[in-house]
Amino acid sequence: MIFETHAHYDDEAFDADRDALLLSMTEHGIGTIVNATASKKTVEQSIELSKKYPFIYTTIGVHPSDCAEMDEDELKWLGDMCSYEKAVAVGEIGLDYHYDEPSKEIQKKWFEAQLDLARRVKFPVIIHSRDAAKDTLDIMKSMKAEELGGDIHCFSYSVEIAREYLNMGFFIGVGGVITFKNGKKLREVVEYAPIEQIVIETDSPYLAPEPFRGKRNSSLNLPLVTEKIAEIKGLSPEKVIEITEENARRLYNL
Ligand SMILES: [Zn+2]
Repeated sequence: MIFETHAHYDDEAFDADRDALLLSMTEHGIGTIVNATASKKTVEQSIELSKKYPFIYTTIGVHPSDCAEMDEDELKWLGDMCSYEKAVAVGEIGLDYHYDEPSKEIQKKWFEAQLDLARRVKFPVIIHSRDAAKDTLDIMKSMKAEELGGDIHCFSYSVEIAREYLNMGFFIGVGGVITFKNGKKLREVVEYAPIEQIVIETDSPYLAPEPFRGKRNSSLNLPLVTEKIAEIKGLSPEKVIEITEENARRLYNL
């Protein structure tokens, strides 16, 4: 069944119909969902969701755009949350230079601190990196992130950068962008990357694939992503679903 490696069902975009939507996943072939967290509040919400639904697991981490207020107490609390039985990774963590705030220094500090946390709790890392290719790679290399493993979520860089992460043993997270008219760079990365290192994701409620671009996204749209990967790789959509599920289980140790 389809393994959704990255979605945000705690988001208020799902407030009106969250339960009905999640209850319909299984009948639509979505077998497992990892709900990704971005802040203390979303970690709490995500844990609640995973308690309610047997097929939902959670990451534990603070997003670079949400780290301005972080402190040592919060870092310790995140560490405590990692012992929760359905926590599977530290993330999403990384660098986002698309906006000016928080400063690069603050983002780097908490990125490194959370990479360190992943090492302590022996978790893979889910990386968010936007407009920050060089600094992300430099930090991950200096922190020996290849020993942690993980996923570069919503991969948005070139084949050259993909090669670096693939060589470090990381998975490439592929979502709706692969269907976009301007998604050529990602299609090239998918063509280049071994299928054994690709996982699928929606980043719901964001990044809905064509023909739903701009609308609220959900895991129900993942077949549009697997069809596109199948086309590029010359495989059947069923085979892509099967292989990416195996990959996701290796990524999250499930
Ligand atoms: Zn996300």
